[in-house]
Amino acid sequence: MSTRDTELKEIEQQLRDALVEAEQELEQLDEQVREFGETLESAEGADNHPGDDSDRVSEQERLLTIRGQLSARRDDIVHALQKVDDGVFGACERCGNQIPSGRLEALPFARYCVDCQEIVDRDGAAAT
Ligand SMILES: [Zn+2]
Repeated sequence: MSTRDTELKEIEQQLRDALVEAEQELEQLDEQVREFGETLESAEGADNHPGDDSDRVSEQERLLTIRGQLSARRDDIVHALQKVDDGVFGACERCGNQIPSGRLEALPFARYCVDCQEIVDRDGAAAT
């Protein structure tokens, strides 16, 4: 096993841990959103102050925004683990070169090497 393989194995393990963590956080957040929805429903019909509604709605929006971000991170991790399964983990999805281990350690679900990331950030992933 090369150093590169050992490093990738470690990063793969980090990804698996991160996936478990993200799934748990999503579950907790779903629970919060659900409880919050129930609070909203039970408050309906009650004599509440008109001003309270917008507060509650923005709180729900806030929860849903966090949920969206978490869900996107989970998808990134799932995508990276899929690359592990396909045997292409660590390869840039744009140019096919190896992404340096240092970059993967900092950003385990990086899809591109630094050069391609800059291009993708500037031009968008579709424009090649
Ligand atoms: Zn690249």
